[in-house]
Amino acid sequence: MFADLKEMDIKKLSEIYDFGSRESFVSLYMNLEKTNERFIEKRKKACRSVLKGNSELIGNFDKTMQNIEKYLGMNDREHGQKGLAIFASNEHEFFRAYKLGMPVEDLMVVDASPYIRPLAKLMEDYETFGLVVLDNHRARVYVVSSGRIEDKDRITEDIMKKHKKGGMSQARFQRLRQGAIEHFLKEVSEEMVRLFSKDNVVKIIIAGPGNAKIMLKDFLPNELKCEILDSIDVDFDTADGYLVSQGEEVILKDEKEIAFKNMARLKDEILKHGLAVYGLEEIIDAVKNGHMELLLVSNGYRLRGWICEKCQLFDSGIKDKCPNCSGKVAEVDVIEEIIEFAERTGTKIEFVDDNPILQDLGGVGGLLRFNS
Ligand SMILES: [Zn+2]
Repeated sequence: MFADLKEMDIKKLSEIYDFGSRESFVSLYMNLEKTNERFIEKRKKACRSVLKGNSELIGNFDKTMQNIEKYLGMNDREHGQKGLAIFASNEHEFFRAYKLGMPVEDLMVVDASPYIRPLAKLMEDYETFGLVVLDNHRARVYVVSSGRIEDKDRITEDIMKKHKKGGMSQARFQRLRQGAIEHFLKEVSEEMVRLFSKDNVVKIIIAGPGNAKIMLKDFLPNELKCEILDSIDVDFDTADGYLVSQGEEVILKDEKEIAFKNMARLKDEILKHGLAVYGLEEIIDAVKNGHMELLLVSNGYRLRGWICEKCQLFDSGIKDKCPNCSGKVAEVDVIEEIIEFAERTGTKIEFVDDNPILQDLGGVGGLLRFNS
């Protein structure tokens, strides 16, 4: 079984850090569709060279890497698995591995906390969705999460066998047939409610040939009806893998539209002097205090900065000691720190591709909660 990666896991990962801000955590992302044994060796060697001078850190790093390599040696790639994410620290007795149904880029980060940015991005791109394939007597209902089918069910109604019997009028036969189809659609609707509420599905795609996918809408409760993103015209027997990839395309398109709308909201709020937050200091403040509803991040943007080992104050630039408490500082990517705080305080995160306005605002922007 794949580890079930959920929003909750990322929140938990975001709450874990080394209180001394020492580089004691290893985060490893692997793209399993390419060979990458050399990648780990190369990164391990380079990180060892940097950590060698500190006996505590190098000791922990070596043991942590041994744990990771032991895991890699014992766990084969599963069918459909495309990626792997591991977060580990021997010293903190911490080890989590997530088998991913979606590809990730090779990355190994040694830091004071698990490096969660690629996971946060994956969660946004591969949002859980519900998928229904049906014709007028058969249906398959799926929940797709992190790029793979988590839950599924089949419904078949014996409609075709209800042949016209001797003496039965054509009109009566049609009525019976229609009744059977409606009964079937009602059953599909009930199964959708059951499965989708269990897995907190909020986006639904309906697929199949002909009219049944349109008729189904009449049998759905309103809250499900308004979650339907799109319907796709395909044969009932279309392979699962193809359906999932078609569904993902719809979800990605929807994500892009949501990002576009959120950018429009940000622009609007800036002009109105409303709920927008911009400027690094204001962003850090709002995200730490949990005042932000939505954080917009320029995809791939990083910013060199520092964090205080004692009071967790952080900012961009270079400092030799904390201006607040004179504590020791460590070098960090300020954007990753902001993302970690956002996860901890339950702020939604939106990664935005090549947007010159967001880049102009410093790569990050945000919208405040109404009641903050
Ligand atoms: Zn400090």
